[in-house]
Amino acid sequence: MNKFSLLLNGLSDLIFPFSCAVCHKGLEVRLGRQYLCAECLGKIRLIIKEDICSCCGKKSAISPCMSCKEKKHYFKKARSAGIYDGVLKECIHLLKYNKKTYLARPLGKFLIDLACYKQDLSKAELLVPVPLDKRRYRERGFNQAQLLAAVVSKEIGIPISTSLHRTRNAPSQTQLSHQERLKNVKGLFKVARNNGVINKNILLIDDVFTTGATADECARALLTAGAQGVNVLTVARSE
Ligand SMILES: [Zn+2]
Ligand SMILES: [Zn+2]
Repeated sequence: MNKFSLLLNGLSDLIFPFSCAVCHKGLEVRLGRQYLCAECLGKIRLIIKEDICSCCGKKSAISPCMSCKEKKHYFKKARSAGIYDGVLKECIHLLKYNKKTYLARPLGKFLIDLACYKQDLSKAELLVPVPLDKRRYRERGFNQAQLLAAVVSKEIGIPISTSLHRTRNAPSQTQLSHQERLKNVKGLFKVARNNGVINKNILLIDDVFTTGATADECARALLTAGAQGVNVLTVARSE
């Protein structure tokens, strides 16, 4: 093998990893877009349409769920492809914290295929990724929500708007209670002028939906800027 092919192979190893991203078992299919082995794929807990809250998408025997009955959301519907644990959580962590950006593609496709959301997807006119704050964007070098939105945009042919911005750097939400999250995100987002969101049906894209505080605040900013309605689509959600 000459130096050139070695280099090419090295590059393609970087671009197309030949082992499962989660358990590192070798994959049989070497070309194409297989990043997870069948065993790991099978462990992902999918969210099935029938037993979810019609509003927030949470697994619930009653719809709307208790918390949506108590509190109205600014978004119309939030849907996710799977539960945020195990393999799916690992994949999202690999994407965000280990910079395995190639996982945006299978996760984005997974999101489209399994989000039990096709009807609402077809109504969307504009995709808006949840923005990262500037400090975190500098550290990470990319916004995972934007990478996911790019995959969705390519697949379903809906343009992306990056007009939603953060007004300040806010502490990470991960350790905060629901009440603290609400306070943390209040007024956190604004939409740029000449934003193209007016009278549009927006599909907000993010990696994880936890309490919905971030999605709600984004939806509020988009509606204030004149959007007609906001739906939310995430790869995963907490139970
Ligand atoms: Zn595996
Ligand atoms: Zn609900």
